[in-house]
Amino acid sequence: MCMDHKFKCKCQNKEINFEFKNDILPHEVIASLYCPNCSGDMAFDPKTMIADNGWVIEYDMDVAKFMSTRMPKQHAENLTPEVIFDNNYCSWLGIYPDDQHDSAIEREEIMAIAKVNPRKYLTELRDWANNRMDRLKQQGWRKAHERFA
Ligand SMILES: [Zn+2]
Repeated sequence: MCMDHKFKCKCQNKEINFEFKNDILPHEVIASLYCPNCSGDMAFDPKTMIADNGWVIEYDMDVAKFMSTRMPKQHAENLTPEVIFDNNYCSWLGIYPDDQHDSAIEREEIMAIAKVNPRKYLTELRDWANNRMDRLKQQGWRKAHERFA
C-alpha cells in the first residue's frame, strides 16, 4: 500500500521520497522538484508551486484537478498547491525532504536506552520527538507543527 515514490530534483543532486496520501494523486502530479541548489534559477509561480525552506515542488495542476474527485469536497473545490502539500496528497515523506534518513539515525541512539531503562526511554522518545519538531519549526519547515503527548 505504501509505495516507494522517489523523485529527483532538476540538478539531479537529490532524490527525495514523497508521500501520496491514500494514493489519490499519481506520481505524474510532480512536474518538477527543485532543491536549494537548483531553486535559485527558477521563477516561482504560486499557482502551481509550493516553497518549503529553499525547496520547491511544481505540481501539474491539470493532473491534480483531474484526479481530485476522490478528495473531500472542500479540498477538490479549492485545489491549490497548499492544499495538495498540507494534506499530504503529495508532499515530503516525513517533515522535510531528508527526514527519513536523519530520524532513523537519531532514533537509533534513543533505542539504546530502551534496553536499559524502558520508562526513561518513553520520556526520552517523547522529548526527542517534540524537541526535534521545535527545531524543525524554527528552521522554517512547513510541516513542523505536530506535537507528541
Ligand atoms: Zn537540485
